[in-house]
Amino acid sequence: MDASTIGTIDTIAAARRHDRVDTGLAEAFGQIVGAQQVITAFDARLAYARDRLPFAVFRERAGGIAGAVPRLVLRPADAAQVAAIVRHACANGIPVIPYGSGSGVLGGAIALGGEVLVDLRRLDRIVAIHPLDAMVTVECGMNGARLEAALDAQGLTTGHLPQSIEISTVGGWVACRGGGQASSRYGKIEDIVVGLKAVLPDGRSIEVRPVARRSVGPSILDLLVGSEGVFGIITEVTLRVWKKPALERAVVLAFPSLPAAWGCAREMMQAELRPQIVRIYDHVESAERTRDLAPFETRPILAMMAFCGSEPMVAAESSTALAIAAAFDGRQAPLGPFEHWQQNRYVAYSQKWHAAGYFNDTIEVTANWSAIPALYEAIALAVRQVHPLLHFGAHWSHVYPEGACQYMTVRLPPMDAQTALPLHAELWQVVQDLTLAHGGSIAHHHGAGLFRGPWMGRELGTGLDVLQAIKDALDPGNLLNPGKLGLRPRAGAKDIRQGFTGRGAGHGGD
Ligand SMILES: Cc1cc2nc3c(=O)[nH]c(=O)nc-3n(C[C@H](O)[C@H](O)[C@H](O)COP(=O)(O)OP(=O)(O)OC[C@H]3O[C@@H](n4cnc5c(N)ncnc54)[C@H](O)[C@@H]3O)c2cc1C
Repeated sequence: MDASTIGTIDTIAAARRHDRVDTGLAEAFGQIVGAQQVITAFDARLAYARDRLPFAVFRERAGGIAGAVPRLVLRPADAAQVAAIVRHACANGIPVIPYGSGSGVLGGAIALGGEVLVDLRRLDRIVAIHPLDAMVTVECGMNGARLEAALDAQGLTTGHLPQSIEISTVGGWVACRGGGQASSRYGKIEDIVVGLKAVLPDGRSIEVRPVARRSVGPSILDLLVGSEGVFGIITEVTLRVWKKPALERAVVLAFPSLPAAWGCAREMMQAELRPQIVRIYDHVESAERTRDLAPFETRPILAMMAFCGSEPMVAAESSTALAIAAAFDGRQAPLGPFEHWQQNRYVAYSQKWHAAGYFNDTIEVTANWSAIPALYEAIALAVRQVHPLLHFGAHWSHVYPEGACQYMTVRLPPMDAQTALPLHAELWQVVQDLTLAHGGSIAHHHGAGLFRGPWMGRELGTGLDVLQAIKDALDPGNLLNPGKLGLRPRAGAKDIRQGFTGRGAGHGGD
């Protein structure tokens, strides 16, 4: 299968029919990683043909294929093998995609034709825990939950606890510029990474030594955090660690309205509180969680918070938060909704809906407090016009003094994929366009990947030209994860949304 055929292959059956393994290439990479670590079998490679991008899941459910089956999958053991793979690929013009655990939801790890995938999960060692400097150094392919369990045994935590912690890698967190559920206290991954090692597109190694801070020009660390595999393959990461808090105290609140709950969160953050958890749910998501709970009959909006640290810190923060909540007519409610969330905080609910034939997706955006009320209303109104039976709900679970992440669930009922996919594309178009129109950012923590490419020009403006210029300088052959982050794809690369878009969403937004 060569790149010129890829763009036309839309079904798994056709991909299988056209599939040819380049045995010479497999042997050459086998010299680097060992023949048994080169995956050539079609079905085994097919399992890597998509990440958790819902659009790709929907296509697969209907026997389709969104991107392309990777040419080979390589499983290196260490950073030296990663560098050797990239050097060989660079010398021979072979495109390469780094792959963590494939939990990304924007298609960042999806091949578009001719790429070799590098599965990094064998790089899974804790290199060192530095108790005095409060850091841990870990290889990129380490599973998030395994890292947290190892730290927990020593009374430590990174504070980065994404819902996908059990199905994602540390390298993937950094590559996607992710955010965990305790981000309002510990920060997002960019606040937690202190240093890293990576392999550049030409095979050179680069290190940002883990030092508390530096003032030596623009941050190279920040060039790689959020680079989604286009500027380098991250092989090792050093993260901040914190002592596990002695105490955690949750507070559940019932508010009369969304503006009251938003006002409370805003005041709390502007009063310099650092809650570990803040979650505010709209009417739809509140109702799902508060059935038969008396306080919510008159105050239908659910907000949950948790404070942690030493007893005096927790006492001071929670009493201040309760005073702020009272000023917004918030009333304390039973802890049941928080306990339920805590028990299920790492569950991937989307699987259930996909299995039942629904078209479920989540879209997270950022907006400032001044914009959130109008943005929420505008999106809620517009998406409901896309389909009468659409489920739409939202919550705000990462809060800042300036604004918050608005995390929305959109779900179309079961129908045939040919009908659903243009509607799904239209939902994205509506949400991303309205977010930009309200001055927000199109992505809070899931990254841009492939699917947000059409809006990257409007999100970054001239900034996208800057990223493209850096890409061209570092990777003149456009070989490392080409076509992601809104950057130029390779000639002949598959346009995954071709034929499935509503109102020109495939190239919308520019
Ligand atoms: C149910 C569910 C819940 C989620 N919850 C959260 C959440 O709470 N917070 C959050 O931030 N995200 C969340 N996500 C999204 C996803 O889990 C994160 O983006 C995660 O960081 C991806 O990690 P991964 O190892 O699976 O990366 P992959 O999906 O394998 O890769 C993602 C991107 O990063 C690149 N990449 C991966 N590893 C490297 C590396 N070592 N060097 C360079 N590039 C690399 C890939 O090429 C790709 O572009 C969720 C996803 C799901 C399915």
